[in-house]
Parts: sequence; structure tokens; C-alpha cells
Amino acid sequence: MTDLRTGVRDDFAEVFGREPDGVWSAPGRVNLIGEHTDYNLGFVLPFAINRRTVAAVGARDDRMLRVGSTFADELVEVSLDELRPEVLSGWSAYPLGVAWALGEFGADLQAVPGVDILLDSNVPVGAGLSSSAAIESAVLVALDELWRLGFDRRTLARVGQRAENVAVGAPTGIMDQSASLLGRRDAAVFLDCRSLESQIVPLGLEEAGLEILIIDTGVTHAHATGGYADRRASCEEGARVLGVEALRDVSVADLDRAREVLDDVTFRRVRHIVTEDQRVLDTVRTLREQGPRAIGELLDASHVSMRDDFEISVPELDLAVETAQANGAIGARMTGGGFGGSAIALVPSDAVSRVQVALDGAFAEHAFAAPDVFTVAASEGARRES
Ligand code: ADP
Ligand code: MG
Repeated sequence: MTDLRTGVRDDFAEVFGREPDGVWSAPGRVNLIGEHTDYNLGFVLPFAINRRTVAAVGARDDRMLRVGSTFADELVEVSLDELRPEVLSGWSAYPLGVAWALGEFGADLQAVPGVDILLDSNVPVGAGLSSSAAIESAVLVALDELWRLGFDRRTLARVGQRAENVAVGAPTGIMDQSASLLGRRDAAVFLDCRSLESQIVPLGLEEAGLEILIIDTGVTHAHATGGYADRRASCEEGARVLGVEALRDVSVADLDRAREVLDDVTFRRVRHIVTEDQRVLDTVRTLREQGPRAIGELLDASHVSMRDDFEISVPELDLAVETAQANGAIGARMTGGGFGGSAIALVPSDAVSRVQVALDGAFAEHAFAAPDVFTVAASEGARRES
């Protein structure tokens, strides 16, 4: 982290020929439990991770926005007077999109100076750890401070979401930005996706001697986008037939009636959402009352529900989960939208290397590419670094 911070300052000086006004950072995130519940207006429980994007930013005395990244050779420029979603594309749509979206939420972009921005990051891209929210949130807290906007974190999360939906064009929910902006050390962010109320829930992993292992299968599936749209459509159909605004309004006790009025596939998809919402609530209560060693069964049940009811797992994810469970994990589940990506496992510190070795062996035995396995710690949300 120190390296990222000082590195981005040096890079800024090299690229822009002066010192930045400051360095800000924001983390990626992983979802502990609550999958596909966000667009059903239910509950999610992500946490910010110890992988961050850093942004060195300096105000200019004209109206230009200029942004560079260690990820890209180009420096992208646009004037604040011409800033619209249609002129943004590629990676720079994330940092420049949040500048535009701040205006949509009431910032007076006529009255602010241009800025130079340089980005660096150690959040893996496309591994399901939301490098996109990290970049948005780092730039958001920087601009909020430099432009003296005084937006609260909850509003900034909505601004980030708007940038991603409109300027980037990705139809994502508010979970990622909320985790990146609101995260706390060794704690998760319990988010109600209807009211957007959030609570910090201590994880107590350090004290319990537990680690969270990310198992990135490296699998990406062409039908991930179609599969996501199809699941969303099923959820909307289920809510319509059941006469509710969103599946959030259906309880586990309502499932018997749901079975009678829904076709089998829609019913099972509805059942995943309804039971998953309940598992998030149960996880929060269990963490508070008993601590992290008691949440393993909820993680395991979440995976089974995604595999069998929602049907969004793949063999590599199932193997990752089963191997972790068989080698000392307290609980494990696939995380993220499905059809590839990563699994997470809750593992006692002294069993981490055993799980790692077992995963390598099991993936080789199945002729699957070796997964990328690493631990993450729950960390502070976006902040000023220097
Ligand atoms: P995820 O959020 O799961 O990592 P996304 O596709 O949502 O994947 O976002 C990844 C995109 O975000 C990258 O393709 C790139 O355009 C942009 N991005 C992320 N981090 C950086 C960075 N440090 N510099 C430039 N662009 C970045
Ligand atoms: Mg993303």
C-alpha cells in the first residue's frame, strides 16, 4: 500500500510535471453473502478488501479534466464544458463518468476547476472484486474534497452507480460502491437495497483466527450476460405473479403458495432469492450473537441454492467450494453474479495452506486451469492517503 501511494505521487509528478494536491484511495470488495438479492430490493453483506485503487489528483487553473492510469498508455482529456456520457468510452469512462454524475446529483460543474488525475491499483480486474467500484470511489472522494462538495458517503455511492450505469453502460446495483465507500476494518457492510440504509457489522475474523480465501477460477462464460438478464426476468415474473413489488416482499413462509402458482424453474429461482435474503439476515444475526465461526452453514447453504435453484454455478466453482469444505474450511460459496469468477472460503488460519494445496491438486486432477488463490482482509473504505 505504501508503495502504491508513493508510486502514484511520483508518477503524477512525472506525467503532469508538478505535485498533486493529494492522494486518495478506495478498495475493491467481495460479497460475503446475498447474491442476486440486490435488484430484488433485498439484502447484501459485502466487505471492502485490502486491495485498493489510488488516485493522485491536482486541481488545474482551467476547465480541462485529464486522466491517466498505469493500466493504459494514453492520457485522456475532456473539458468540463463538454463532459457528457456520449463522449466517454473505455476505461476513462469510470473516472470521468463520476465527474459527470456528480453534476447530475447537484454539484455545480460550472463553478469547479479542471483536474489532473493519475490512477494505480492492485485490485485484480475482472476477478469479481469490483475494480470498477474502487476506481469510481477513489475519484469520487478526491473530487468531493477538491471541489468542496460535501456529499455524504451514501450519496457518493449513488453517484458512482449512476456513472457506471449511464457513462459506462453497465446495469449494476449499488452494492459495490457502498462497500468501497462505507467499509470498515474487520467488518462487513449490511445493506438494505430498498431503503439503501446500511449498518456496519463486525466480522471478528482476526480475533477468531479466521481468514477469507478468494479462489479465482479464471473462468469467464460468454453467456454470463444473457444468464444474468434471464435470471432478472424470472425474478420480475415471479414478483408479478405473486403480486408484490419485488421478491424482497416474499417471505420463506410464502413459498408453499408460490410453488402452487409458479412454474418449476421460476419457483426455484424465486426460492433462491427468498431464502438468500433470509440467509443474509441470519448471517448478520449470527455474526452479532455468536461470531464468525458460526456462519459456515449459511455460506454452504447459499452455494447449494445458487447451484441447484438459481443454476448459476459452474463445475470449477463447485469444485472450489467442495475442495475447500473437505479440507478444513468452515464454509464456502461462489460469490458474484455466477457463470465463472471466484468462490470464497472461510478458513481457520492454520488450514489455509492445506486448502491451497488441495485446490491445486483437485483442479489439476480435473484438468482445470490452476485457480488464483489468495487471502483478503476486511478493510477501511475510501479515504485520503496523503
Ligand atoms: P470488476 O469490477 O469486476 O473488476 P469491471 O468490468 O466491472 O470488472 O471493471 C473493470 C474495468 O474497470 C476495466 O476493464 C477498466 O476499464 C476499469 N479499471 C479498473 N481499474 C482500473 C485502473 N486502475 N485504471 C484504469 N481502468 C481501470
Ligand atoms: Mg465491476
